[in-house]
Amino acid sequence: MAAAKTGKKSAISEERVHEEIARCASRLLTTDPFVAHLLGNVSRSVTTSIKTAAVTVRGNKVFLLVNPDFFMTTCKKESERVALIKHEVLHLLFKHLDRIERKKHDMMLVNIAMDLVVNQLIGPPWKLPDGAMLLSTFPDLNLEPDKSFQWYYDKLYKCDNGGKPPPQGPQGPQGPQGPGGFPGPGQGKGPPQPGQGQGQGQGQGQGKTSGQGPGGSKQLLDDMRGSDWDAGHDEWDKKRDIDGNIIDGDDRDDERDQSEIDRLIGQAKDRCSSKQWGSVPAAIKDMVAEAEARRQPKVDWKRALRIFGASSSRTSIRTTQMRPSKRFPDSEGVKIKTYQYIAVVIDTSGSITMDVINSFFSEIHGMWRAGAQIIVIECDAAVHKTWEYKGRAPAEIEGGGGTSFDPAFQWVRDNNRKYNFDGCIYLTDGECSAPEIKPPCKLLWVLIPGGMDGPHLKFGRVIKMT
Ligand SMILES: [Zn+2]
Repeated sequence: MAAAKTGKKSAISEERVHEEIARCASRLLTTDPFVAHLLGNVSRSVTTSIKTAAVTVRGNKVFLLVNPDFFMTTCKKESERVALIKHEVLHLLFKHLDRIERKKHDMMLVNIAMDLVVNQLIGPPWKLPDGAMLLSTFPDLNLEPDKSFQWYYDKLYKCDNGGKPPPQGPQGPQGPQGPGGFPGPGQGKGPPQPGQGQGQGQGQGQGKTSGQGPGGSKQLLDDMRGSDWDAGHDEWDKKRDIDGNIIDGDDRDDERDQSEIDRLIGQAKDRCSSKQWGSVPAAIKDMVAEAEARRQPKVDWKRALRIFGASSSRTSIRTTQMRPSKRFPDSEGVKIKTYQYIAVVIDTSGSITMDVINSFFSEIHGMWRAGAQIIVIECDAAVHKTWEYKGRAPAEIEGGGGTSFDPAFQWVRDNNRKYNFDGCIYLTDGECSAPEIKPPCKLLWVLIPGGMDGPHLKFGRVIKMT
């Protein structure tokens, strides 16, 4: 089993590989719906520039890269191909692409530790290619399941450094970083052969592992360092544009990349039916919750929405099944709920990037969670679409032209009889001349970071996202 050589054109057509990835995706939909939905949000590229497979961010898009020869020939069975793809998608979920985090550590051990985390979740019927890193690969380390990458890293580091714990902060020279993915013997001498692929998961020792030899796991780590073993994670340390060209310098925006990944994770959750979501393992649900927490809005909307109040006719008192309050026994079971209708205008003009649109939707989600009924108005120099937000961001938004504030305000006026808006929020970069049409309700401008403040933002208050 040889990892494919990089750079050479493959005899396998790209189309065939794409078809096979699609087939694997539909197989995942039955066993791993969340992973399948996340994969569905990721762009795919068939390329010989990597040896096996990888996930990466290029431009501001998340990609799955697949080497055609490795995927179609080295991975002989469908179960291996599905396992490989699932492995890559899980790396996205576990925040493993965070380059800054990686830089502080011994990279080879990081790569092993991260693979230990995701490989536990592959599970039958899928089977990783031989040589994948499993808990059973290191029997003498007594690795427990369901731990964080940091936990495995510490164990591996101590094993590799005579019991010394890892230092805090950045390290010196790092381990070898060749290209590749799953270990691919290739140059004759071949890297060590850890674990046999079976029993991924709970780390029952699998008999034949190099980690069980005379030198145990320490010997295995030494052997791996001297070999061409590589986890195929080195793509994460590079910055590339959307065409895959390496961009010089160190200006990859890890935070922006992570926010795009987090957005895709949220979208994948939204696409799960409740039955599908119910079947998702706890370890994955935890990571989704973390991604959602990272997407917290920048504005405290509970507080901000108070300035609008609510039409008193919409206030309702209802009896609830809530547990009686110990501190306020008189208030038991009664809940006052106020409904607010808010018109949220999203500036979709050409100067607004997709990242900014994503951050808008984190804010809109925050308003919605704070209890507002939200009508979204997509507007650049004209109103394109209007719809009620129900907890999900749309796949696409319409715009890309110049900016004018008036069309949206006109729309709010025209539809105020229907909604009786309590307020209007305009999310914008502020780069536009002052409006002439006054909205029929209170107005709040929300300026994106770096947006243009000034007297042209009239008829309401301005708050800035930081
Ligand atoms: Zn990996």
